Amino acid sequence: MFENLADRLGGVFDRLTRQGALTEADVQTAMREVRTALLEADVSLPVARDFVKAVERKATGQAVTKSVTPGQQVVKIVHDEMVQVLAGDSDPGPLKIDSPPAPILMVGLQGGGKTTTTAKLAKRLKEREGKKVLMASLDTNRPAAMEQLAILGQQIGVDTLPIVPGEDPVAIARRAKTQASLGGYDVYMLDTAGRLHIDEVLIQQAADVRDVVRPRETLLVVDGLTGQVAVEVAKEFDDKIGVSGVVLTRMDGDGRGGAALSMRAVTGKPIRFVGLGEKLDALETFDPERVAGRILGMGDIVALVERAQQTFEAEQAERMMKRFQKGLFNMNDLRMQLEQMQKMGGVEALMGMMPGMNKMQKQAAEAGLDDKMLRRQIALINSMTKKERANPDLLQASRKKRIAAGAGLEVAELNRLLKQHRQMADMMKKLGSMGKGGMLKQAVQ
Ligand code: GDP
Repeated sequence: MFENLADRLGGVFDRLTRQGALTEADVQTAMREVRTALLEADVSLPVARDFVKAVERKATGQAVTKSVTPGQQVVKIVHDEMVQVLAGDSDPGPLKIDSPPAPILMVGLQGGGKTTTTAKLAKRLKEREGKKVLMASLDTNRPAAMEQLAILGQQIGVDTLPIVPGEDPVAIARRAKTQASLGGYDVYMLDTAGRLHIDEVLIQQAADVRDVVRPRETLLVVDGLTGQVAVEVAKEFDDKIGVSGVVLTRMDGDGRGGAALSMRAVTGKPIRFVGLGEKLDALETFDPERVAGRILGMGDIVALVERAQQTFEAEQAERMMKRFQKGLFNMNDLRMQLEQMQKMGGVEALMGMMPGMNKMQKQAAEAGLDDKMLRRQIALINSMTKKERANPDLLQASRKKRIAAGAGLEVAELNRLLKQHRQMADMMKKLGSMGKGGMLKQAVQ
């Protein structure tokens, strides 16, 4: 899937071949192309615009890691941003179906893959989570659709509610609810009627059913090939009946992957699953990493840059160690250490990794030694000029005031940071004076 976008971007990044830092001009040229590629992939304009802005901000001025090209590095930045957009701000967690019988309402337009997806999901819940599932079709306009669900049910060994001709959707929903309670089902899934377009009757019907069963999840099934239309459909369904998650079907096709990218950004609704074929096990949980990788079709490059960055960090660590051996330790060194701590998951994570640290963790928290402090300290160092960072002895009262104000903090906090720096610098000096092959050298080996 997504070949078009991947090909487009491939061409863009090949053109970035110069080594060194990513210049603003490089990044801007690449981003114009990325924007066009996204629009051609049917990503909506505001989403494409925001996306490009975010990447631009992150890429400009970033040092290019040795052994990768700027193009490869930009791919990685684009990839990471894409993962972020696809994942949204919060993890939706597992489907909320733990209090039986939990109703799941399936909604969407006709032909989007709603009935197939209902069966796929039922199969999955049965096989992977051991749930006892009941399916019911509410598509009273199309007897064939009701038959279709019954046949799918037989194929996957999942019960369907017996069809009673002439019954209206709300009555069927009520019967499904009762049957689910009496029959000891964990989940009952209601496959609502689809139309070719959203209309009042369709929406009213879904809303009535919703009010009767109070679904734990309302999943909207949309055809991923329809790009922005899918997003518009999602917005409308969500406005009118409320949607808790989205399933994008036909992501196995060679279509425009843009729907996935816009969906989360525009609707704020998590994409729960993607349909990857007509077979009843062709349903995958939505994985932002995997989908971003597919959109870009550049998984190898992302892995390469990650590896290169690790090497880069190792080189950085070695350079730092050399400085320490000479007894050098300025604010840049301190910042690098603080950032390293942040990268490793922050103070609490580091302590949590060590056995018997619970008590210390508490003490550290009481002393204000936490991740917020890391951020504040880094902000203070960022507020210093280059000269000041290289030589903290320059910091007299007026400079201190300016630096603290720049970070939005008190001078007292800056003083604490400086004290900490002095202690560490002293220690480095002592360790450094033990000379080459001394304690430090041994410590790193
Ligand atoms: P409904 O009208 O929304 O209930 O749509 P159906 O479930 O009847 O699906 C319409 C057609 O799309 C059927 O032929 C399905 O096999 C097909 N379909 C559904 N999901 C997918 C998918 O993820 N990939 C592909 N390739 N086909 C799908």
